[in-house]
Amino acid sequence: MLRDRYGRKIDYLRISVTDRCNLRCVYCMPESGVIPKNPRELLSFEEIEEVARAAISLGINKIRITGGEPLVRRDLVSLIGNLSKIKLLSDLSITTNGTFLEDYARDLKEAGLHRVNVSLDTLNEEKYEFITGSDGLRKALQGVEKALQIGLSPVKVNMVVMKGINDDEIIDFVKLSYDKPVSVRFIEFMPFGRNLFWEEKRFIPISEVKAHCRSFAELLPADGLPGSGPARYYRIKGGRGTMGFISPLSSPFCSRCNRLRLTSEGKLRPCLYSEKQIDLRKILRENASGEEIGSLIKLSVSNKPKEHYCGAVKVNRAMSQIGG
Ligand code: SAM
Ligand code: SF4
Repeated sequence: MLRDRYGRKIDYLRISVTDRCNLRCVYCMPESGVIPKNPRELLSFEEIEEVARAAISLGINKIRITGGEPLVRRDLVSLIGNLSKIKLLSDLSITTNGTFLEDYARDLKEAGLHRVNVSLDTLNEEKYEFITGSDGLRKALQGVEKALQIGLSPVKVNMVVMKGINDDEIIDFVKLSYDKPVSVRFIEFMPFGRNLFWEEKRFIPISEVKAHCRSFAELLPADGLPGSGPARYYRIKGGRGTMGFISPLSSPFCSRCNRLRLTSEGKLRPCLYSEKQIDLRKILRENASGEEIGSLIKLSVSNKPKEHYCGAVKVNRAMSQIGG
């Protein structure tokens, strides 16, 4: 089992498979865009699987695939298929913007994917276009429907709440969680160095979001969702789904943090906000053994900071580059 210096059990690895994305979300990409990595710079699927196997042998049992947009990486289904066969992996999920999900959901499920998180910040087409630079709202909603239909369960819908941008839709998302068996998660807008869209005036603490939801309906506690890490879940009486509230800025959940992150070019990061990353690609390409990879995974665990200070520390990379 992996434990860090502060006694936290580390059992969750987020793996980014690409820094590319078909969308340009205002809160994620720097305005100037990111220069995509040369494919040689990315870990191959075999390399990702080697890291996953080493991590699982040390006690990681949950893996989430992310990006950039993971579904733009060719043949992702085969990676899912191979990861799902590794013994002792109990939870395999992806985070996606959903625009290609309708096309891939069935294959992903058949390959062994357990569940999916879809990022969706608005249900309004014009606003979707403003936030993402794309007209893909219908595709994203169809992706959610397909995931529900084929049982990629639970389907979580992540909404980054931004004042003056989409906060007028909070109740629409509450209603979504009432009408459909999805878990809507309201997430605080986080600052990242080169993204200039983050401004204090656009930030809403999650307590305000929750109070707003409570003004609409009574929130009853609902626990026990798979992968319910930092979120506390609630439901409305008679509702089919649930709601979660995630507050990385106003009340960080560092004391319960259980994760490591692997970037698409093979850097292992102990915390989203830490620059203490370890280059695994180098040793993978020098044919390192599982033990050697494992010892660097342990080193990364020992580098986990007690907490992050994201108000003060500016991460110099976009979320799409680190892997959200
Ligand atoms: N492209 C996929 C997607 O959008 O779901 C996966 C990668 S994306 C970087 C992962 C998550 O990071 C998304 O849910 C997105 O909303 C979140 N994210 C990106 N920038 C953020 C920010 N500044 N504050 C809060 N969440 C952010
Ligand atoms: Fe792409 Fe996801 Fe970032 Fe939006 S949040 S730009 S979909 S990586």
